[in-house]
Amino acid sequence: MNRVFASLGTSVFETMSRLAHEHGAINLGQGFPDDAGPADIRAQAARALIEGDNQYPPMMGLPVLRAAVAAHYRRHQDLALDAESEVMITSGATEALAGALLALIEPGDEVVLFAPLYDAYLPLVRRAGGVPRVVRLTPPAFRLDEAALAEAFSDRTRLVLLNNPLNPSGTVFGRDELALLAGFCRRHDVVAVCDEVWEHVVFDGARHVPLMSLPGMRERTVKIGSAGKIFSLTGWKVGFVMADAALMRVLARAHQFITFTTPPNLQAAVAYGLTKEDGYFTAMRAGYARSRDRLARGLADLGFTVLPAQATWFLSIDVSGLGCGNDLAFCEALVRERGVAAIPVSAFYPEAAVDTLVRLCFAKADATLDEALSRLAPLARKAA
Ligand code: PMP
Ligand code: GLN
Repeated sequence: MNRVFASLGTSVFETMSRLAHEHGAINLGQGFPDDAGPADIRAQAARALIEGDNQYPPMMGLPVLRAAVAAHYRRHQDLALDAESEVMITSGATEALAGALLALIEPGDEVVLFAPLYDAYLPLVRRAGGVPRVVRLTPPAFRLDEAALAEAFSDRTRLVLLNNPLNPSGTVFGRDELALLAGFCRRHDVVAVCDEVWEHVVFDGARHVPLMSLPGMRERTVKIGSAGKIFSLTGWKVGFVMADAALMRVLARAHQFITFTTPPNLQAAVAYGLTKEDGYFTAMRAGYARSRDRLARGLADLGFTVLPAQATWFLSIDVSGLGCGNDLAFCEALVRERGVAAIPVSAFYPEAAVDTLVRLCFAKADATLDEALSRLAPLARKAA
């Protein structure tokens, strides 16, 4: 057996969802909205399933979707992408990440990553033979820092993997931080894989800046997006990869032997969704910002310390000083005794280097959030 996968446990998201089910808990753990997602997009998928072609679509994706992806990023992020040679459709961002890491890493290459990191990253880098160099970002700001980058990059660095906006902290990296990182990429001749699945879910007037748009980065960035996040349809697993044609040729070779393709009806429906008016995106953001504020305010009123979150469907609370142990102990007690599932942020740090934060998903109906708050209340009062 391969030692990377043989030594892994079950993903924290699956584990917490299973515990939530077992205990009949409110699931604020794994990130998914409890809303069913846009009815018109789902209707398009249903129609395409019944009336459309259900045989293998082209390996790179349906032409109508690739064109829609290119047009979408031109409209929203001012990127000029050639739909034919610079856009590929994958089965979720997860496949895109796996493919990019397998395609671009040679055994022994050093890969710079940032913790907190999404749980798939390290195993995928290691399975590809990469040697991880993890830069630890520290709460509550989670900022990129020049000294830490200087320590992580070397002549052996071949790739950097950045998640922006950042899950779990909801941090949006601004142009200055990205410029700093881009400088290191250029100086060390490094390819950047940028997981931007949360690009549309940003609040408080924040603007997502794609790393690809920075000087010198167009030819060396692989940008990854996900329809699951843009349309609140996490089960669909339709991802996009954007990269310069030379990189894309290699990415396509990995994709052709991982999944080869993605269900055509979902591709057709996502193509329709991407052309939605700006109003859809504004309303989607406003809705989640409202939910974030409702949960954050409720938690703060109870006495919890709530960290700022400018993006994603998540916010974190600091559980140190509550007398419940570390984040994992807090989450276990919370799901078993209080009926609320959450995610310990230590799962996003190698060696659980930060173990005082708990991530809660606010992409839920008001009544769900209010009920979760009333279940959390006794844990906060303990601290008082
Ligand atoms: N990257 C990050 C940072 C994520 O948060 C997620 C899903 N929550 C993914 C990748 C996976 O996206 P997909 O479901 O499209 O595979
Ligand atoms: N990315 C989702 C989250 O952060 C989980 C995805 C998964 O369960 N694999 O909650």
